[in-house]
Amino acid sequence: MAPLHLVWIKRDLRLQDHEPLRRASEQGHPVVAFWLMEPSLEAHPAMAPRHWQWQYQSARQLQAALKPYGIPLYLLYAEAVEALRHLADTLPIAALYSYRETGLQITYQRDQAVARYLREAGIPWQEYDRNGVQRGRRDRQGWDAAWRHYMQDTQASRPNVIPAAGMPFDPLNAWARRYALPPQKRKDLQKWPNAFQKPGEAAGQERLHAYLDQGLYYAYHKHISRPLESRESCSRLSTYLAWGNLSLRQVYQAARARYATGDHRGALRAFISRLHWHSHFIQKFEMESRMEWENVNRGFDALDRREMPTLLEAWKKGETGYPLVDACMRALQETGYVNFRMRAMLVSFLTHHLWQPWRSGVEHLAQLFLDFHPGIHYPQMQMQSAVTGINSVRTYNPVKQSQDHDEQGRFISYWLPALQELPNELIHQPWLLSTWEQQWYNLKLGRDYPWPVIDHQEAARAAKKKLFPAKNWPQVKAESRRILARHTTATRNINDRTRDVIRSS
Ligand SMILES: Cc1cc2nc3c(=O)[nH]c(=O)nc-3n(C[C@H](O)[C@H](O)[C@H](O)COP(=O)(O)OP(=O)(O)OC[C@H]3O[C@@H](n4cnc5c(N)ncnc54)[C@H](O)[C@@H]3O)c2cc1C
Repeated sequence: MAPLHLVWIKRDLRLQDHEPLRRASEQGHPVVAFWLMEPSLEAHPAMAPRHWQWQYQSARQLQAALKPYGIPLYLLYAEAVEALRHLADTLPIAALYSYRETGLQITYQRDQAVARYLREAGIPWQEYDRNGVQRGRRDRQGWDAAWRHYMQDTQASRPNVIPAAGMPFDPLNAWARRYALPPQKRKDLQKWPNAFQKPGEAAGQERLHAYLDQGLYYAYHKHISRPLESRESCSRLSTYLAWGNLSLRQVYQAARARYATGDHRGALRAFISRLHWHSHFIQKFEMESRMEWENVNRGFDALDRREMPTLLEAWKKGETGYPLVDACMRALQETGYVNFRMRAMLVSFLTHHLWQPWRSGVEHLAQLFLDFHPGIHYPQMQMQSAVTGINSVRTYNPVKQSQDHDEQGRFISYWLPALQELPNELIHQPWLLSTWEQQWYNLKLGRDYPWPVIDHQEAARAAKKKLFPAKNWPQVKAESRRILARHTTATRNINDRTRDVIRSS
């Protein structure tokens, strides 16, 4: 019997521009793909049912898309080494193909265990770089050019069609039965609230083309910080990119093609530079993954942030008494999305105003974000909580953000119906309502909407008083120098980089 070429589908739930599928199908046949729901990862505190539902439903679509190519895709509930060992005990395996994953410590350790097992079993593992992120780098010299080259390179063509003859279906089906998803789990994985984006490669392609071809991007710049309008004017591609329903190269090349037509180029430049940020942050995490659990700048360990359960609960439930903060948290719970500025404000409120450690909120947000990607999430959490030492300290005033970006309180009214009758001048600061006004608007503070959990102006002053001097602590400065040397190219600033990202090949 011909040995199997195995493809492990992870955060790359697509048919197109899929290097491992392409390469495996070039080698001979049979080719078999599998996707795993790993119980150990399922139990990780950053993972939530919505992440598994997205993956499962995308994987079901991929299963159907791979059928005409003669490549069966098995969806299994198993730990990776165990599933591989069991298959290799039953059938000969020529090689395993997959993308290289920049993930949580738990997935990194799992990959090491898989590599050890495969070495012992004499099975080669062909891993491919994902979205221009490179393993084994010590610094960023030459990284931008390599990224550009990767993004402009030809996309992987679809896999070759594999003849049905010779596919060992009986032992494969026995393998699939052994690690089948339990019926109740499968039922839960099929649920999908209407308020979430549609999962899958086809939906990702549809959004990409609608975004670029129907001119939805025209207002990208204008509305980027606005919680309501950005839900259309931003691309909303992050979830498709995080789970690999689209490759970054597909999005980059489509945006560049649009750029060539000369339509609203400023907006496209800003959008394309974000695509670069996507890989830039993941590369940071790839090179310093301890960011998952400790401050990247160890100098900040001396800051005295302590968990305060009552404040944390109020933040998590969207009951802080600050309407924009609470509305964002409710929007996240219901839809899995808010724009970048609102995410930054949620973190600033948690870590500056409430003076909580970023660790105490990082997993809560990860669970809510449909687009959770550890490589972006952890570095962004640290950056917004001002523990990198290399970025400016940004304390977002929750009232000003609200007045500037949701002037008429439309976003707030939608997510906090208790406040919907309030006029513009009060919806951003309901604590200013007099007793008479509370009766008039039928809103009793403390009953229908909470009083503020802190005084935001006082809290911001206190945070800045601690954060600004900390930037000059000797250990913070020494660590900042180390971080700059490792994660940036000293001679070039962000504008140079943005210009390069856009520059024609
Ligand atoms: C605390 C915090 C946590 C975050 N966690 C995640 C996460 O887990 N997963 C995630 O994809 N993004 C994360 N982001 C980055 C950013 O908020 C989202 O990528 C963006 O809001 C997604 O919306 P969009 O697809 O409409 O983005 P667009 O503005 O249309 O941008 C296009 C793409 O560029 C990338 N991108 C945009 N902004 C950023 C950024 N600031 N950093 C890195 N990449 C960016 C995304 O892949 C995005 O899909 C986080 C930001 C913060 C402040």
